[in-house]
Amino acid sequence: MTIDWEAAGGSDVGRLRRGNEDTLRMDPGRGIFLVADGMGGHAAGEVASDLAATAVEEAMKTAIDADARGDAVGQTLRDACAGAYAAIVAAGRAAPQTRGMGTTLTACILERNGTAHVAHIGDSRLYLLRDGALQQVTSDHTWVQREVDAGRLSPEAARTHKLAHVITRVLGAGTDDEPDLTSGAVHPGDVLLLASDGLTGMLSDAEIAALLAPPLPLEQRAAALIRAANENGGTDNITVVVVEVGTGK
Ligand code: CA
Repeated sequence: MTIDWEAAGGSDVGRLRRGNEDTLRMDPGRGIFLVADGMGGHAAGEVASDLAATAVEEAMKTAIDADARGDAVGQTLRDACAGAYAAIVAAGRAAPQTRGMGTTLTACILERNGTAHVAHIGDSRLYLLRDGALQQVTSDHTWVQREVDAGRLSPEAARTHKLAHVITRVLGAGTDDEPDLTSGAVHPGDVLLLASDGLTGMLSDAEIAALLAPPLPLEQRAAALIRAANENGGTDNITVVVVEVGTGK
């Protein structure tokens, strides 16, 4: 089986923040998709997310252009995350006002054979809409997710919890935390969503599923997700990348 895909995305500052610390990258030709949500204040957050996104995008571009496949793509993604971490640490040393900056990173690399390679750290998310059912592929590295996993909090209560923003793993920020790396199979008809917490904190999974589903063009679905997050408060930067898998021709 061979697949293809199309993609659309966007990022919005939201209704309360003055700057946008989120970064997205879409390279549909190579199958590179990622969202990063920086933190650190004083413009450092947007530096961190951009550094990480650039490091991962460039490393993946080079490997894919050299025809890397399968495990080699997964290994390159792992190395690319290490490179992103190193870039953040080096930038923090060079510019002390950015020391301590960090970023979430959720990256999905698609191969024509239907393999999806995923790297994830922090509280941005990858979702999969398959046969009308929305699954969260990544697991948040947050305090509230730990409480959910321990059975002490419901997922819906976690979403609006006052400590929902407390992240337990992040790229940079004075830690040496590493991303989760996984791979899996995608099929024609699947819709993938990468999003920052400015989307997922504002919308329930049911709301996301309804807006992500066909048949509207992908650009309209991405725009509708951002609009809905703003209508529900827009308290944070909102970033989405939507990818729809098709039958390769
Ligand atoms: Ca955020």
